[in-house]
Amino acid sequence: MSSRRDPRTYDMERLRAAVFEERGGEVDDSIPQLAAADDEFCAIALALPDGEVRGSVQARVAFSVQSAVKPFLFALALVDTDGAALDRIGIEPTGEAFDAIKLESGTGRPPNPMVNAGALLTAALVRGDDVEARDERILAGLSAFAGRALDVDEEVARDEHLLGDRNHALAHLMRAEGTLEVSADDAVAVYARACAVLVDAEALAVMGATLALGGRNPVTGEQVIPDRVARDVVSVMATCGVYDGSGRWMRAVGIPAKSSVSGAIVLAAPGRLGAAAVSPPLDDQGTSVRGRAASQRLSDDLGLHVFGSA
Ligand code: GLN
Repeated sequence: MSSRRDPRTYDMERLRAAVFEERGGEVDDSIPQLAAADDEFCAIALALPDGEVRGSVQARVAFSVQSAVKPFLFALALVDTDGAALDRIGIEPTGEAFDAIKLESGTGRPPNPMVNAGALLTAALVRGDDVEARDERILAGLSAFAGRALDVDEEVARDEHLLGDRNHALAHLMRAEGTLEVSADDAVAVYARACAVLVDAEALAVMGATLALGGRNPVTGEQVIPDRVARDVVSVMATCGVYDGSGRWMRAVGIPAKSSVSGAIVLAAPGRLGAAAVSPPLDDQGTSVRGRAASQRLSDDLGLHVFGSA
């Protein structure tokens, strides 16, 4: 018999209180703004097919989206290249850290769109003749996923661009391999701005729901991307979204997801709902410790494991 609880009445504060007790993990220190994050910040939100959005306390507190943007960049690149992005990027998990300086052997392609190399390329494949045009298109696209106008944190964008040495290295490597057409600096600039987009748990949950529900934003009703593109993106989230922790995540949590250094996790439970779980302390694979705990509980309590039968 199913023990599923109803997401419409699920006690969000109780969930938050339970996962808040999880200690451990380290706040990312790659840029000053992330290093200064409050390690007690914790927010969880659900976005349901009827457009209802349910947030815990702090679910409207803004943070930079960081790598949780990667599935959406992949989606926009697929749409803007009419699927040709799939020839330019691999879709195999790497078993390595998100910023590993490594491309697919033989082809020189990024291994998948969920690691930095891949996201630098998907950001470059988004339609637009220059940095500003691509940036505008990305911001408009992300806003459509979120169902409201989003902004860039300019300080975060500047520091990501300035201090992202490994991203510059990856972009140069892709130039050398002939897989990146725009300049290395332009690629890093656009990617840095995409990582610096401000969201909150509620917005991120709606973004996840749009992927989970065939590309249709349940709040605005807009078909943001074709159903087929949403399916492609969610498939790659399932295999690569938690970097070198993707296998463990899939077994235990079983919901396609994307982690990020700001401590955000965006989840897309196919056909069911979108969710976001955010708290800055990260484990060794760059996954939010409380975010993982919240995702695990949501999966268990709401019966969201994609390979579960209950
Ligand atoms: N902006 C970060 C970077 O490129 C994003 C990485 C992440 O969230 N895992 O290093």
